[in-house]
This record gives sequence, structure tokens and C-alpha cells, in this order.
Amino acid sequence: MIKDLGYYSKKFAKLGVDRAHGVAPHKPTLLLSVIEQFEKGRIQHNQIYLTPELIATFLKYWSNLVTTDHRSDISLPFFHLTGDKFWYLVANPGFEATIASRTKIKGLAALRNTVKYAYVDDELFEYLQDFSSRVQLVEILIATWFPTKAQQVENLYQVDELESVQLRLFEKGGAVYTTEDIKDQDKTFVRNAAFRRNVVSLYQQNCAFCRLKIVCRNGQDIVDGAHIKPFSEFHDDRFDNGIALCKNHHWAFDRGWFGISDDYRILIPDDRFYEETPSNMRSLEDFDGEEILLPNQKIYNPRIDSLQWHRSFWKIA
Ligand SMILES: [Zn+2]
Repeated sequence: MIKDLGYYSKKFAKLGVDRAHGVAPHKPTLLLSVIEQFEKGRIQHNQIYLTPELIATFLKYWSNLVTTDHRSDISLPFFHLTGDKFWYLVANPGFEATIASRTKIKGLAALRNTVKYAYVDDELFEYLQDFSSRVQLVEILIATWFPTKAQQVENLYQVDELESVQLRLFEKGGAVYTTEDIKDQDKTFVRNAAFRRNVVSLYQQNCAFCRLKIVCRNGQDIVDGAHIKPFSEFHDDRFDNGIALCKNHHWAFDRGWFGISDDYRILIPDDRFYEETPSNMRSLEDFDGEEILLPNQKIYNPRIDSLQWHRSFWKIA
């Protein structure tokens, strides 16, 4: 069989979708979202990851195009598109058997745990890299699945949803969520990504502990937007519960290897370390008593109650 653009146009028009409660819109919504990632240059290799950008785009199309009562959940189409024979999953190490057995995986967290990325037929990947082929595939998706929404799709394409979520959060200085708010795994994942981006930008992409800053040409940086009081317990995404830390110092902070005093000095607990051999870095203990880097807006300085919580949890004097 020749896998040309006509072949994939037919595939996109005849996706295997659930029709028990009206036509399930998950698969066409995911494909529109994936095509947008190609359009915006975010997918360079035949590896489609569950990135915050992809999930935010999925939520954007979902909330604007879908009129049925289905629940938005990107894990459903990301998993079930394998049934359409052009979309495949690559397992995370240790989960190869789970993927091979086609065991159903429910929810974003479980799927991210199991699946490294999806990829498509090489032929389809070539078409997705080509502008006019993308236009044709989008037209097929809209005509078949969202026939009255062509204009909306065009307008929605202009919106960078993750950036919008980030800006809305920035205007509020972050947010605290209820247990109800975080039930939707997709939305929580996107909001967490927006929190991290905001915190990292407040520290201008530097680690507050060691000042390390490395920014790649594509905008990626090496610093994490860490929570002081853990999100899993406190659901506190206010920026003053955040701090930018490099991978090493994020890991060390989350294990109580150091604390931060109320006047923002690094506290290294006595007798914590048995042996430390810094290579070209300064040793951790060497930072004891030094002031951390503070964000560029004083109102977002790490909150004292968060720092106290962290010191008392890890018994740092
Ligand atoms: Zn660091």
C-alpha cells in the first residue's frame, strides 16, 4: 500500500473513535494539537513527547471546539491512537512488557510513567514537516470532526496556550489550589509547568544557591522552579513558595541537605556530610552562611513560613 498524503487523509477522516456517548473528539483534538507543535517548530524528530506545550494546546482546542459531554483527558487518545496503525508508543525502561501487552493505561501520570514518547509512520512524519501537507491534514480533521469550527481553529492557532496560562498566573503572583482543583491531571500538569517557568524567570534562570546559569539556543535552561513546601502536600503555587535551583541543588534541597535562614542565608547542618569531593565545583559546605540569590521582584522573595517549614521538616537549626 502506498502511504501517500491521500492515505493519511483517509486515516484522519476515519479514526477509530468511540461513539457510545456521541462521537468522542479526543483523537482529532490530539492530532490538531500535534500538528500545531510541528507548525511551531517544537517537534524536530519523530518523537512526540507529552510536553506541557502539547497538553496546553490539547486543552485549548478541547475547551473551544468540543461540544459533547466527554471528559478531556489527553492520555486516552495518546494511548488509543495506536489502534489506528500510524501511531506507536515507545516504553520507558522497564515498561516494555506493559506496552507490548497493550494493557490500558489510564491518566496522564500513569501514561508519562510508562511511555517515553510516541512516533508516527516515517511517511507521515515527512508530511507533518511540510507546510502544505499540514494544511491539508488540518482541513480534513476540521471538515470531518469539527465542521462548523473552521474559523475558530484558525483563531486558536494564534494563541500560545502555555504562555497564556503562564501570564494569567503571573498576574496573580501564583495560586493555591484545592484538592478539587488538582483532580484534572492535564490541567495540573500545565499549571505546574507555568509555575516553574514563572519562578525560573524571576531568578533570571540562575540557581539561587550557586548562581549557575546555562541557557541553550532553543531557550531551554538547566534551572528548575522548585517548591519550598512540596506541591503534593500543600498545593501552593504562589511564587514566594518557589525558588530557582539547578538540578544538583534542587535534589539536595528536597532532601534537606541545606536550609535557608529567615535572612536568606544558606544553612548547612553540622555533621551532615561524611565525605565531599568537589570536582570543579565548590563544595556544598563551603556555601554555609552565604546569602542566596533573590528574585528580581522582592515581593516574591521566598516566604518565611515556607523556609521555616522546610528547616523544621529537615531539622536544620
Ligand atoms: Zn546550583
